[in-house]
Amino acid sequence: MRSPLTWLAIGIWSLGILGVIAIGALITFAATDVEAVDPTETGIPTLAKVALAPTAAPSFTPRIITPTPRPTQSPTSNFKLPTSRSSPIPTLSIRVTLTATPSNPLVIGGSVLGRPLEVYRFGNGSIHRMIIGGIHGGNEYNTVHLADEIIKHLNAHPETIPSDNTFFILRNLNPDGYSRSLGIRGRTNENNVDLNRNFPSLWVASWNRNGCWTFLPTTAGASAGSEPETQSLIKFLSSSKIDALINYHSAALGIFAGGQPPDDASLKLAEAVSAVSDYPYPPIDTGCKFTGQLIDWASEHNIAALDIELTNHRDTDFEMNLRILDVLLKWRR
Ligand SMILES: [Zn+2]
Repeated sequence: MRSPLTWLAIGIWSLGILGVIAIGALITFAATDVEAVDPTETGIPTLAKVALAPTAAPSFTPRIITPTPRPTQSPTSNFKLPTSRSSPIPTLSIRVTLTATPSNPLVIGGSVLGRPLEVYRFGNGSIHRMIIGGIHGGNEYNTVHLADEIIKHLNAHPETIPSDNTFFILRNLNPDGYSRSLGIRGRTNENNVDLNRNFPSLWVASWNRNGCWTFLPTTAGASAGSEPETQSLIKFLSSSKIDALINYHSAALGIFAGGQPPDDASLKLAEAVSAVSDYPYPPIDTGCKFTGQLIDWASEHNIAALDIELTNHRDTDFEMNLRILDVLLKWRR
C-alpha cells in the first residue's frame, strides 16, 4: 500500500510528463505549420522554377524590363559600371536591339564609361523620324527630361504616331555628363569632349570661343567622330533611314536649321516648327562659330535637321514640344 503522499507525488510527476509531451507536440505542430505555409505564400518555388528552366531568359532580364524613363534621376546616380569591356552588357545590347518596343529601348551603343545609349521606338510606318534629347548634359538636363516626358506620353497615347511613321527618340546621348553634374561640369562626355563639336562635319580641334559657351575648357575630341557616343549615333542614323530629326538644347536661342548654309529641307522643317512654337526663328545670333555639329552632319547626309533650344534650363515646354512632335511626324519634303 502506498501512502496518500506517495500517490500525490506520482500524480505531479505524471502531469509533468504530460506537460512535456504537450509542449513537444506544440513545437512539432508549429514547425510543420511553417513548412506548410511559407512556400505557397511566398511563391518562391515558382520563381525558382522559372529561373532554373532551361528556356528561361538570361539573368539580365531585369535590366531589360526596367528601362522606364528616369526624370528624377540624380546626378550622382548609383549606376553600376561594367567591370570591364568584356562584361555581359554588350551581349545584352544585342538582345535588346532585336526586341525593342515602346517600353524596351534599343541600346545603340555605350558612353565612355559604358552607360547605355537608349533609343525608344514607336510605330511601324515607312517614314522614319527622330528626336535626340541630351547631347549636352549638365545644365541642359531639361532636354533629357523632355525626352522622358515624350516617351511617357507616347506609351500612354500610341495613337499619336501616324500609321505611316516610325518615330525614334534617344533620351540622352551624354549619360556620363548628365550623371556627373546637372550644372556646367556636366556638359562634356567623360573625355571632356563637347559631343556637339565632335561630329565629322566642319570639325576643327579648336575654335574661336567668341559668342560661344565658355564656362569651362572643353575639347572637340582627338579627331572628328572620335567619341563612342558620336560613333554610336552616326552608326544608328546611317542604318535606320531617318530622314528628319530634331536635337534639343537649352537655352533660349531658338530654332537652328542644319547645314552651313542650311539645306532647303532643314529650312522648310524649321519654318513648319516655327509656325507652331514660340521659339525664336530665325535664331538669335551670338556670333558663335559652330563646328562639328550633329545637325550639320545630318544635313550633309540628306537628313533634315534642327537644333531647338528650350526656353530656359529648367522647363521642358512640354505642350509646345508635343505640337512640334506632331509637325516633325507629319512634315513632308
Ligand atoms: Zn546644347
